[in-house]
Amino acid sequence: MSLASHCPVCNTPAPGPVFALGNVPIICNQLWPDTDAARAAPAGDVTLVICPACAFVWNADFDPAKMHYAPGYENALHFSPRFQAFAEELAAGLVSRFDLHGKHVIEIGCGDGHFLDLMAQHGAATATGFDPSMEGKETPFTAREGVEIVPEYFRSDQLERPFDAILCRHVLEHLDTPLALMQDIRRAIGPRDVPIYFEVPNAGWMLETVSMWDVIYEHVGYWTAASITTLMRRAGFVPTSVQAGYGDQFLMVEARPATPNPAYLDPGAAQVQQTARAFGQAANAELEAWRSRLSKLDGKAVIWGAGSKGITFANALGTQAAAPLAALVDLNPRKHRLTAPGIALPVIAPDTLTTLAPDLVLISNALYEAEISAQVRAMGLTPDFAVLAG
Ligand SMILES: [Zn+2]
Repeated sequence: MSLASHCPVCNTPAPGPVFALGNVPIICNQLWPDTDAARAAPAGDVTLVICPACAFVWNADFDPAKMHYAPGYENALHFSPRFQAFAEELAAGLVSRFDLHGKHVIEIGCGDGHFLDLMAQHGAATATGFDPSMEGKETPFTAREGVEIVPEYFRSDQLERPFDAILCRHVLEHLDTPLALMQDIRRAIGPRDVPIYFEVPNAGWMLETVSMWDVIYEHVGYWTAASITTLMRRAGFVPTSVQAGYGDQFLMVEARPATPNPAYLDPGAAQVQQTARAFGQAANAELEAWRSRLSKLDGKAVIWGAGSKGITFANALGTQAAAPLAALVDLNPRKHRLTAPGIALPVIAPDTLTTLAPDLVLISNALYEAEISAQVRAMGLTPDFAVLAG
């Protein structure tokens, strides 16, 4: 059985293709000191396929060994006030809905322990997280009494005492054997009625909005409500709530243990088949339209925003089509004088645009279109502006 031949959720053979990106950076957010290092950055292929039975979408070319060699990156989402508010509300809600006052909580893939600390803050007595990436690292989030991190992969036989909930956020999309983790959790729970909470990027939203920038090598699996329900039912959980949150970008699932139903297939799978195929066609059409527009451009283009969206887009165009791109513009001074992986575009400060004098500015976040075009025009420049959709 391999990711190329069989579905990792339901083991059905012969997945069908949805969308492909060749030679993309393993870690798309990682910037490099110079062009040579950026071109030599670890890369891999993405071939999204869909299971003909359960409609799980995954990268059939994903190689877990490549992730072991990739340099780490900081996922600093919780520095954003919006994300902080989301996490606070989630922690308070879980303590209340799962009745966790004075109880013991486990988190799989806890990172720096930010969410463990929030759970304790909102009433959990103790919170233990598992995360091998925390080996030898300091974090302020274990200062609270009862909060601890075990810097290892989660295994149910490590749990020494009864627990009252298992949480797992933004982990499942990185796993090539997700069913094994769910079955291990189910074994650990045994006959008790212990609730679980899983949160993943919402692939239903990604497919519907044709957000091709969310197709990144780090993610082997793309979960929809249908496929995550199938996974859970097969492993012995019944979802009690499956919701989109955080501007529809996350899929949030609460579930309770039940008898495993190893033949379960969610009825929502048929709709996902259609949506996924439409996504592939629309994403390819959009890339072709950009390649055509850039090939006719007499002059230089820049992308405003050196985040994963701009970097994924530039790499997806391919070296030849991306030739008119001169740079990525970013406000963050820590990114300046660094180079984007793969496509090897330099990241520059906005004021550098006066010497570069681009003819086209591609804006990676539509929310900032008015602000960015005003700023560029105030420099005395008169390029065309376009927004990357999705
Ligand atoms: Zn399947």
